[in-house]
Amino acid sequence: MDYDSYFDEALGLLHKERRYRVFITIERDAERFPRAVWHSDEGPRDVVVWCTNDYLGMGRHPQVIDAMVTTAQRMGAGAGGTRNIAGNSAPIVGLERALAELHRKDAALVFTSGYVSNETGIATIAKLLPDCLILSDAQNHNSMIEGVRRSGAEKVIFRHNDLEHLEDLLRQAGKTRPKLIVFESVYSMDGDVSPIHAICDLAERYGAMTYIDEVHAAGLYGARGAGYAEEVDALHRLDVIEATLAKGFGCVGGYIAARRNIIDAVRSHAHGFIFTTALPPAVAAAATASVRHLMESGEERQRHRRQVALTKGALVAAGLPVKPGPTHIVPVMVGDPERAKQASDMLLAEHSIYVQPINYPTVARGTERLRITPTPFHDAAMIEHLTDSLVAVWKALKLPFVDRAAAA
Ligand code: PMP
Repeated sequence: MDYDSYFDEALGLLHKERRYRVFITIERDAERFPRAVWHSDEGPRDVVVWCTNDYLGMGRHPQVIDAMVTTAQRMGAGAGGTRNIAGNSAPIVGLERALAELHRKDAALVFTSGYVSNETGIATIAKLLPDCLILSDAQNHNSMIEGVRRSGAEKVIFRHNDLEHLEDLLRQAGKTRPKLIVFESVYSMDGDVSPIHAICDLAERYGAMTYIDEVHAAGLYGARGAGYAEEVDALHRLDVIEATLAKGFGCVGGYIAARRNIIDAVRSHAHGFIFTTALPPAVAAAATASVRHLMESGEERQRHRRQVALTKGALVAAGLPVKPGPTHIVPVMVGDPERAKQASDMLLAEHSIYVQPINYPTVARGTERLRITPTPFHDAAMIEHLTDSLVAVWKALKLPFVDRAAAA
């Protein structure tokens, strides 16, 4: 059998559809964040990263780095086992306590990534509910979709943020059947937000449980960084809150926070929790330092909001097609995979700016874009340079500007 031909065929299709993925190699620089060194073909080059998910720069925070280094020195590099067998370190238990406190829930459970927490968390919770119907937002992240699939439960998809559609589906399911509504707070590619209170109202009226993904909001929103649910005072209304330690908190790992019995049941049933090595103590200590710091300090969030507003303002004033939205995610729309890639390549090669193009299947075909994520550390000069560079690239590629006179 010529097995290689199958892989060659798959690769050929990716190239044909212009979906072949290229990752550039960078070395982040903790002291000069958000600058990094790009390993280009011609040698190392300084670039400014405009597409990081280390939204607040917590990955470079001295307290976070210090917690990681000192814990690694004291406890070693790895966890030494699964949570059940020798891997249940004091730092991971402390991290779960901090996360429960953050989200004002009884308990939290840490997984190796946000992806795993959704995949295994949703699957396990739905399996524990007899004849569960899952109601899932059409724009949910792949990790949630996989969790829904793996649960084996019946699912219905409601149109993105469409409360009438959700209510219709809840009504059809009837009051007595167990139901789980899964949705996000901040949607990662458009940067729009869900109507959390209205979804909780429906959940209460029709007797459904709620599961929210706060991956793009935890650390960033709310007075203590507990996410969008805290921002709109809805923490107490949600049954399960899932998030990551890899974005706002700048480390790695994922978790769910909920009532004690939910966490306790998931702990003993979730395969993606039971059968895998625990997060290293050093990572848990760093994440705890990050969570605790952001619970106390609003400074990073304030600076973040200011720099996001300045960036959006500058790009919109220059006539660039920014998709409007209330959050820190700034999508600049291109609408074609090839041109999105060309724009990204030109920004890097000619302007020392790194913005990864976002193509199908991450976003729908025809909505390809540059997804820009300002941090508190992108200063005025960087914003001006980004704006001028994008304008130059847009002109060179003959991409359309927004006709502001016509739009007004
Ligand atoms: N949920 C959403 C909405 C995401 O966008 C992502 C990843 N970007 C995840 C979950 C997975 O999180 P992690 O990167 O920690 O695996």
